[in-house]
Amino acid sequence: MSQSLSLQQLKEAAEQFGTPLYVYHAEKITEQYQKLQTAFSKSDVKIFYACKALTNINILKHVRSLGSNIDCSSINEVKLALHAGFEPERILYTSNGIDFSEIEEAKELGVHINIDSLSNLEKFGKKFGHSYPVGIRLRPNILAGGNLKISTGHDKSKFGIPVDQIDKILSLVATYHLFIKDLHIHTGSEIKDVEVFVQGIAVLFDIIPKFQELEFIDLGGGFKVPYKEGDAETDIELLAAKVKEAFDRHPNPKGKSLQVWFEPGKFLVSECGYLITQVNVLKESTATVFAGVNSGFNHLIRPMFYDSYHRIKNISNPGGEEKKYSVVGNICETDTFAWDRKLNEVREGDYLVFYNAGAYGFEMSSNFNSRYKPAEVLFKEGKMHLIRRRDTFDDLLKNQVAVL
Ligand SMILES: *Cc1c(COP(=O)(O)O)cnc(C)c1O
Repeated sequence: MSQSLSLQQLKEAAEQFGTPLYVYHAEKITEQYQKLQTAFSKSDVKIFYACKALTNINILKHVRSLGSNIDCSSINEVKLALHAGFEPERILYTSNGIDFSEIEEAKELGVHINIDSLSNLEKFGKKFGHSYPVGIRLRPNILAGGNLKISTGHDKSKFGIPVDQIDKILSLVATYHLFIKDLHIHTGSEIKDVEVFVQGIAVLFDIIPKFQELEFIDLGGGFKVPYKEGDAETDIELLAAKVKEAFDRHPNPKGKSLQVWFEPGKFLVSECGYLITQVNVLKESTATVFAGVNSGFNHLIRPMFYDSYHRIKNISNPGGEEKKYSVVGNICETDTFAWDRKLNEVREGDYLVFYNAGAYGFEMSSNFNSRYKPAEVLFKEGKMHLIRRRDTFDDLLKNQVAVL
């Protein structure tokens, strides 16, 4: 059975810790991780949690306890992963447009590194030659993903070294005798069509024979999860079958089969998360009835940034008559969470919960309008734990330097 928190549990969390509040359900993360484990059990696959989706240290520790590895997008994420207890060999730093000093730092820390530009590849070669294995992040020139803002593999994307520059890559590899141990692609987020991964693999198979020391292929993340009722999830079983078929057919040049790495972020933590808000005001107008909550895109930016859809439920009045509301935030910018959404009758003071708030929710939050970031709570083995206290006024001033 699929793990989820009941309306009662969410209500208790809101009453105990106040709102706005992020609540995460550890067992749901476990369930998603196990889905991957089961699907890929017949293949040599390793899972790296793309932690930029949600980096609370307790989440990292939970993910580590499941046996997962971790994918990082910045050197600070690498340090957080180490802090959470991940061993360096379980940490991957997939860089993008970073200063070479961060790559040097990652090497010092002993983690896996994917390099995404010719210039950093050259600097790496000059400095380290063959002494430290690295991966290359390629841009496969494939258009995929939920929308253009979250597509990363197409031919106008900044990510990765374009595959058409393979000759330049090979020339650097030869000049500096680079030890290339993996090729990486990440085509985007919310990829529901398994064929996209198959296309990516096809692009890689043309290139694999050019590298003699490859140990694994990294196919990135981007598995889709359901947001709306009845929405599809990436068919992980089918993906596993396709990946196995492709790699059985194309062993690497030395006959040794290549391991496959994946970097799911959203898939592991999207559905585990809930943002609970409270209705401050109801405002009737000719166009709609606004339900104004004590949150905004300062806490959950995805609807305004990506037009993403989050299911919303009135947990204070689950039996109430259904009516249409536009759910909006309280900051001084247009911040619409949902327009003309059917909800059980909303009254001022009711708790509205946003679903799928685990990935890129708290993580992209800010103090815009000088409002506090929400508190975070972890629900694990039936117990609620506060895992981040709500901001206080001092937090707003913490790094400011008063000179006047
Ligand atoms: C963001 C990111 C991911 C995870 O994407 P999801 O859509 O959350 O699965 C994986 N790999 C890399 C390199 C990323 O930047």
